[in-house]
Amino acid sequence: MSRIFVLGAGQLGAMLHYSGLPLNLQVVPVDFDAEPIADLADSDLVTAEIERWPDTPVTRQLAAHPNFINAKVFGLMADRLSQKATLDELQIATSPWQSLERDTDVASLLEQLGSPCLLKRRTGGYDGRGQLWLDSPDTDLSDWQGAAIAEQKIPFDEEVSIIGVRNASGEMHFYPLALNLHLNGILRASLVGLERLQALQAEAEAMLGRLMKHLDYCGVMAMELFRVGDKLLVNEVAPRVHNSGHWSLSGSSVSQFEWHLRATAGLPLAPAQVKGACLMINLIGSERNEAWLSVPAVELWWYGKSVRPGRKLGHLNTCAAVPADLSTQVQALRPLLEEDYQSVLDWVEKRIS
Ligand code: ATP
Ligand code: MG
Repeated sequence: MSRIFVLGAGQLGAMLHYSGLPLNLQVVPVDFDAEPIADLADSDLVTAEIERWPDTPVTRQLAAHPNFINAKVFGLMADRLSQKATLDELQIATSPWQSLERDTDVASLLEQLGSPCLLKRRTGGYDGRGQLWLDSPDTDLSDWQGAAIAEQKIPFDEEVSIIGVRNASGEMHFYPLALNLHLNGILRASLVGLERLQALQAEAEAMLGRLMKHLDYCGVMAMELFRVGDKLLVNEVAPRVHNSGHWSLSGSSVSQFEWHLRATAGLPLAPAQVKGACLMINLIGSERNEAWLSVPAVELWWYGKSVRPGRKLGHLNTCAAVPADLSTQVQALRPLLEEDYQSVLDWVEKRIS
């Protein structure tokens, strides 16, 4: 079996490694600052856990490998400008946007997109970082001009995401839509299995399917969407496994990590058999609490990073036959999670009841 090297050695790389074990796939996450791989062979495969990486000896080596899957996609999707332009070209509905050039007149930008509008750095933003709500033409934007796009503010009802997989011969499969709660730009919880979301499933699959086909994509891709009434608008796309698919480690016959590896290694994909209801809660800035493990049907995934406020340190997964049955676990977790999580649990309870 060939080895699969992963550009990046964060938690996504670790979960890819873990998911490769039962398939007898040797998955090797590679830190950007590691030494170049001495015995890298032409038969090895290369993928990435992130869409953008610093230029270092080892990233240069891996990105130049003949089996770097989706090599051309990363640059296109990592830059919000080319990502948005690709969506427009394919007529996939997305939040209206404009490029913020050096000579863009801010007053007319606000006039066209409405005030406030959201500035997003073209590259490098995550968890809501690299964004600025703009509401005044007098704001000093010298640091943003030429390096950002501006988006219309979308008065969305909810945020959802669709995750799908495509292999080299064009076969595609999708998970059911996840309902996502973001607070201050950070994903706090994902909930899968709500019956009312089924009405949007076909449209979401068509949107992601069109993009994956256009890019001749191989592997797992995630699309974050706004639901506005009965319409879907793309927020952003990630050409990789995604936080809103972490529930699949516990709730699906094949996790997003395994799907990605199967596609990468040319193994059969198969559709996913998904449990009735799945919930993922991100653990952000909290100390590890072993009492979480005492709750029946709750699984802990701890990333082994040092604890810092606002940092994603792990997640909890739990599944049940139907959404309402998740309330047993939610109630048991309440006293084991800090104040900051109570509104997240309220959000879950309101949606499953
Ligand atoms: P991620 O961590 O998912 O990579 P990010 O930092 O790249 O996130 P976005 O997903 O673009 O950033 O935005 C973060 C959040 O900000 C969204 O989940 C949404 O809640 C809000 N947001 C983004 N764009 C808009 C918009 N056009 N209108 C209203 N809210 C928005
Ligand atoms: Mg996002």
